Amino acid sequence: MSSEKRIAQPEAPIPGAVRYDCPHMSQSCNCNRIIMATLTMFTRLVSLQGAHTRLLELPCNDPPLVKYDGFFYADQSYTYDLLIIGGGSGGLAAAKEAVGLNAKVAVLDYVTPSPLGTTWGLGGTCVNVGCIPKKLMHQAALLGEAIHEAATFGWQLPDPKTVKINWELLKTAVQNHVKSVNWVIRVELRTKKVEYFNALGHFKDAHTVIGVTKKGEEKILTARNILIAVGGRPRYPDIPGALEYGISSDDIFSLERAPGKTLIIGAGYIGLECAGFLNGLGYDVTIITRTIVLRGLDQQMVNLVIEEMEQRGVHFIYQAKPKKITKQEDGRLLVDWVDKDGEIHQDVYDTVLFAIGRRVLTEELKPENAGLKLVSETGKIEAINEQTNVPNIYAVGDVLHKRPQLTPVAVHAGKLLARRLFGNSTETMDYTNIPTTLFSPLEYGCVGLSEETAIMVHGEEQIEIYHAYYKPTEFFVPQKDVDRCCVKIVALRYDDQRVLGMHFVGPNAGEVIQGFAAAIKCGLTIPKLKSTVGIHPTVAEEFTRIFITKRSGLDPKPQSCCS
Ligand code: FAD
Repeated sequence: MSSEKRIAQPEAPIPGAVRYDCPHMSQSCNCNRIIMATLTMFTRLVSLQGAHTRLLELPCNDPPLVKYDGFFYADQSYTYDLLIIGGGSGGLAAAKEAVGLNAKVAVLDYVTPSPLGTTWGLGGTCVNVGCIPKKLMHQAALLGEAIHEAATFGWQLPDPKTVKINWELLKTAVQNHVKSVNWVIRVELRTKKVEYFNALGHFKDAHTVIGVTKKGEEKILTARNILIAVGGRPRYPDIPGALEYGISSDDIFSLERAPGKTLIIGAGYIGLECAGFLNGLGYDVTIITRTIVLRGLDQQMVNLVIEEMEQRGVHFIYQAKPKKITKQEDGRLLVDWVDKDGEIHQDVYDTVLFAIGRRVLTEELKPENAGLKLVSETGKIEAINEQTNVPNIYAVGDVLHKRPQLTPVAVHAGKLLARRLFGNSTETMDYTNIPTTLFSPLEYGCVGLSEETAIMVHGEEQIEIYHAYYKPTEFFVPQKDVDRCCVKIVALRYDDQRVLGMHFVGPNAGEVIQGFAAAIKCGLTIPKLKSTVGIHPTVAEEFTRIFITKRSGLDPKPQSCCS
């Protein structure tokens, strides 16, 4: 076993420590010097010597050995090598990776009920109130669309217009799946010997976390390294009635009653996706937005998505904000909102869903007890290679400042961190070229730079934009609107026309973009893309057929399907 495997992280020696030369030095074990800090630890060292063979058999962290100034330290002062606050995407990925490298790991996870009282199991946002239930509801909406199309392909159905969603059945199916995932995660943690505490954690000091259980019992846990992976929760506006009557994405996937006529406040990706599936399920949906929709993403493509949603019946109210919500006698919600000219408007809804952004749960950690600094405006954590300003405290996932808030980002960063802490790895997380998809009815997938960002960074003269509209074969028979199916490539004009960004609006956008994201990682160029043979007839092949640049002024509308 290599000595490097035993390194948790460099740390100052414990005061009063005595360096000890291990008499059991051997070829296979490089831990030739061990320092013990206290008499208790010395006793422990004696037994350690006696069990030296065992030490060799158990590769690292039994006891954890820490390298400092070229020497190794036996450290018995902490219960865990890694204590993780937050059992979501990032925390669980780090936990599983770390135990695989023989670290002693504990995870604390606790869900504070939403203002409506919704709560859920282990696994974090993605599993319970994020990606997974969202994708299932999106799928339910797509199936509804498919039922209507099926008749045009010859399926003999009862009048498709009479086909309706049963919210109760949908919600139950989605929640059953979520609960099965909660169960699998718990079993996996138990099998892998990750200790799990259903407790709300906060710092006592930089190495100590107090976990408070639902019953109010306190658990004091110490660890050499602490990982913050607490994610965030939806924000509510400070207006009358918001907390009493509003809901958020935390509630919608388990809502006991059908949402009915819904007002969504906020046009970020969560607002748009919820609007998309609710509209697809047959509910009347309105979005109120104050600012530009999805700033940061390619605006041409975002506008196509919005146009498509409007065409499908989602109402958009721009530059407006809600003022108050009151409950009428019939139980419905009367919403007042104010437009950009200060004029007040009103309408009645069955559901008001806030999607105005998320607040990270770092204040609750009592970061000051550990000396941990937060970014003042957002409460997020600024970290270099996931290491915070406190050297033994790390952070991954949504809590990180200026990092994409996506599950695979949290997972990847968590895994790489565990490998650096407990394995030999030096690999760090690359936060560039992260692909993502907006699961709007007509999906938008992208990777890399938007047209706006590329121009801002490199200058208009240095950027070539390729674009094309296309007709998915499967849209012809049901005569679906193809006007907004569009692909776009952002490339450099020099450097062999290296591709900086790829954008796709159309069916299965996530599936399409995933492969191209790998190609961009490999340094994809326009000539390489043009020499790639497409798979026909697919929508992804449109990227291999693209040749019209914006600069040329040629019409990017499709001429035929197979030329
Ligand atoms: P989380 O997964 O949020 O986990 C944090 C956990 O820590 C939670 O269980 C929380 O309750 C717990 N916790 C918080 N404070 C404490 C404490 N003090 N003590 C103990 N436990 C605590 N991402 C995608 O990649 N694709 C998608 O399609 C997608 N869709 C989404 C849809 C919605 C509606 C939402 C809300 C999010 C979506 N996301 C999506 C984002 C994704 O869910 C997050 O980026 C991801 O879950 C972040 O992981 P995390 O580990 O940082 O935190």
